[in-house]
Amino acid sequence: MKTSIIGFPRVGELRELKFATEKYFRKEITAEELEAVGKELRNKHWQLLVNQGIDFIPSGDFSFFDTTLDTAVLLNIVPKKYQELQLSPLDTYFALARGYQGEAGDVTALAMKKWFNTNYHYMVPEIDDETELKLVGDSIFTAFNEAKEAGIKTRPTILGPFTLLKLATYHGQKKAEDFYEAAITAYGQLIQQLTQLGCEWLQIDEPALVLDLTPDEVQQFKKLYQKLLAKKGTLKILAQTYYGDVRDTYQELVELPFEGIGLDFVEGRKSLDLLENYGLPEDKLLFAGIVNGKNIWKNNYQETLALLEKIQSFGEVVLNTSCSLLHVPFTLVNELVLKKEVTNHFAFAVEKLAELNDLKKIIGNKVENQSLLTANISLFNQERFSKNGQVAQQVDALTEKDFIRLPVLAERASIQKNKLRLPVLPTTTIGSFPQTIEVKQNRAKFKKGEIDEDEYTAFNQAKIAECVAFQEEIGLDVLVHGEFERNDMVEYFGESLDGYLFTEKAWVQSYGTRCVKPPIIWGDISRSRPITVAYSQYAQTLTNKPMKGMLTGPVTILNWSFPREDISLRESTLQLALAIQEEVLDLEANGIEIIQIDEAALREKLPLRQTDWHSEYLDWAIPAFRLVHSKVQPTTQIHTHMCYSEFADIIQDIDNMDADVISFEASRSSLDILDALKAIDFQTQVGPGVYDIHSPRVPSVEEIEMTIHNILNKLPIEKVWVNPDCGLKTRGVAETEASLKNLVLAAKKVRGGI
Ligand code: GLN
Ligand code: ZN
Repeated sequence: MKTSIIGFPRVGELRELKFATEKYFRKEITAEELEAVGKELRNKHWQLLVNQGIDFIPSGDFSFFDTTLDTAVLLNIVPKKYQELQLSPLDTYFALARGYQGEAGDVTALAMKKWFNTNYHYMVPEIDDETELKLVGDSIFTAFNEAKEAGIKTRPTILGPFTLLKLATYHGQKKAEDFYEAAITAYGQLIQQLTQLGCEWLQIDEPALVLDLTPDEVQQFKKLYQKLLAKKGTLKILAQTYYGDVRDTYQELVELPFEGIGLDFVEGRKSLDLLENYGLPEDKLLFAGIVNGKNIWKNNYQETLALLEKIQSFGEVVLNTSCSLLHVPFTLVNELVLKKEVTNHFAFAVEKLAELNDLKKIIGNKVENQSLLTANISLFNQERFSKNGQVAQQVDALTEKDFIRLPVLAERASIQKNKLRLPVLPTTTIGSFPQTIEVKQNRAKFKKGEIDEDEYTAFNQAKIAECVAFQEEIGLDVLVHGEFERNDMVEYFGESLDGYLFTEKAWVQSYGTRCVKPPIIWGDISRSRPITVAYSQYAQTLTNKPMKGMLTGPVTILNWSFPREDISLRESTLQLALAIQEEVLDLEANGIEIIQIDEAALREKLPLRQTDWHSEYLDWAIPAFRLVHSKVQPTTQIHTHMCYSEFADIIQDIDNMDADVISFEASRSSLDILDALKAIDFQTQVGPGVYDIHSPRVPSVEEIEMTIHNILNKLPIEKVWVNPDCGLKTRGVAETEASLKNLVLAAKKVRGGI
C-alpha cells in the first residue's frame, strides 16, 4: 500500500516564508532573495517527505501567498488594472494579493474569502467579459522540474477548473460556463506539457464537489471533465476532494476516466456509504483520506485500520490525509515547554507523515511492525484528558430551562429601558480601544517578568481611566474599559480556563503572511478564576454611565481553538458556555449592568451543506450562547457582536440567540442586511456599524448622519443603536478619537431632528 499527501504547510517550520515575504514587502530583500528562500523551502519539504517514506509527493502546493491566486495567475485571470501597472510578474502577483499604491498606480487588492470550512482565506479570482483564460504561467512546470533535478519525482497539484470558476466573481455578463471551453484548452495544454516533462500523475483539486450542487452544476461538471479528460493521453489524473463528501457527484466522478479518486473519510460523513451504495470501478485507485489534515491529535490506528478494512474491500487504496496539511502546524519538535505526556498525543504535519508511514507498515503486516500498533493502542488506552467529573455532570444535568432566559425579550426591553434610562439611538463602541505600542509593551514586559503585577495593573488602570474620561468627554452613552489587558480575544480567556493548553511555535497560515496559533482544548473546561471582573469593576467606579462588561462567547472560543476529538463539539461548547456563564454572573454580581458576549466567529464552523446547518451545528451552537446568559436578571442587558453581516441566511437563528442587543459590521456591505432584518421582523435591538474601522479614514458627521437615516428607513428607532462596526484595537489614537466624536455628534443631530 502506498502513501500520499494532498499538500504541505509552505510557510516553513519556523515561518521562514512569512518573514522573508514580509522583508520583501518592506524592500529589505530583493525578489531574487525571496525566490531563493522559496526554492530552499520547497526542496527542504520535498526531502522531508521522501525521508518520511511518502510515496506520492506533491509539487505546486507551495505559494508565496495563496494557491488559488497562483492558479488564477497561471491561467491569465488578472484584471486589466493590475496588468496596466506593468510591474514584474512577482509584483503584479503581490498587487493582486495586497493592493498596490506607488509610482505605477493605485489599485486595491482582490477580495479575500474564507476557504470552505477552514480558517484559511483565499484570494477571490476576478473575471470580467474581457478575461482571456489561457495558460500563461509556468510555476507548475518549474516546481516539477526543480524537484526532478533534486532526484524527486513529484505529482503536480492544481486547483481544478470547476472549483476555480465556481469560486471566482464575475463582473461582466459572462458566467462560469462561458469560460469552460477556454479552461479545457488551458488545462489540456498543461496536461500535455507535464506529460512531456515526464510527469506520471497530476492531482486536480476539486473541493467544490463537497458543496451542495444543483443538478445543473452536476451536469456542467460532468461535461467539463468529459471534454478535459479526452485530452489526457498517458498522464494519470487524480480527482482530489476534501472537507466533506461528494454525495452529489459520486456517480459522475467514478464514471469519468480518472485514474485516481481522492475522498475524505474524516469529514466526509457519507464517503463510506457512497462506496457501499455505488461501488468503485476496478480500474480506479482510491486515495483514502484517513489521517485528519485539520486537527492536531494523533491518529487512532485501531479505528483507522478498521475503517481501511472496509474501504479496501472496494478496491485498491492509497493512504492519504483528509485534506492538505496546510491547516496544521509544522512540527512538534519545537514545542519544548509542553510535557512529553501531553505532546505524545499530538501529531502536527511532520508527525502525520510518520503516521501514514506507520499505517503502511502495519498493513504491510511484518511482525516487527506490529509494535507500532501496540504502542498506539496503549496511548489511546491511557487516561488522556484532564477529566473534571463535576463539569461533565453539570453538562449532563442541563435541562431545557437552562437555555431559556425569562421574562421574554420584549418584557426585558421595557424593564431595561426604565432602569438604564438611555437616550434614543444610544451610542457605544464594540470594546477595544487602540492597542498602542506602550499597551503592547506593558503586556510583554509583564510576561517576561520585567515588571511585577502591581506595576502591570497600574498601567492598565491608568489607560482605562484615560479611556473612560475620553468617552465621557465626547458623550458616549454606554462605555467600555478598552481591553488593554488582552492579547487575543480567545487566548485571553483560554489562559484563565482549566483544560486549555498553549503552544510555542504551532502556527497555522490564515492567509498570505498571516498565521494564527490556536490554543488546544486538552481537557474538561472550567473557569479557574474570575477573568474580567476586576478591570470591569474598576472601570465602573470611574463613571456614572453604564460600563459594558466584555466577554468572548463559547462558540467563538471553540471555533478558534483546536477542539478535542474524544467528546463532541457540542459537549465542549457547553462546557465553555458554563465557564463563561460563571463569569457573566460574577460581573452582574459586581454591579455590571450591561454585558457583551462576542461571537465574532459564530459562522466559522457552519457546515458546508445547508442540509447539515441545523442538525450538525446551529441546534447546539445557538443554545450554547443562550446558556451563557439565561440566568441573568431581567435588568441586566446582554449584548453580542459579530464581525460580519453575512448572516441573512441564518438570521432567525441569530434572533434566537435571544441577546437584548446585537452589533455587527454593516458599513461595507451597504446595509443590505437591514432588509433581511425587516423581513423577519427581527426582535433583538441592533447596532449596525455606522463606519468601517478597517480603514484609517475618519468619517464625517454628515456621512454618519446619512447612514443613521438609512438605518432608520428600515428599522424602528427604538430598536437602533449607534456604534462603529468592530473593535478599535487595530486603529491609531488620533483617527479613533476623531471618528468617535463624529459618531456621537451625528447621533445627537439625528436625535435632535426627530
Ligand atoms: N470586543 C472585541 C473588540 O472590540 C470584539 C473583537 C471582534 O469583534 N473581533 O476588540
Ligand atoms: Zn468585530
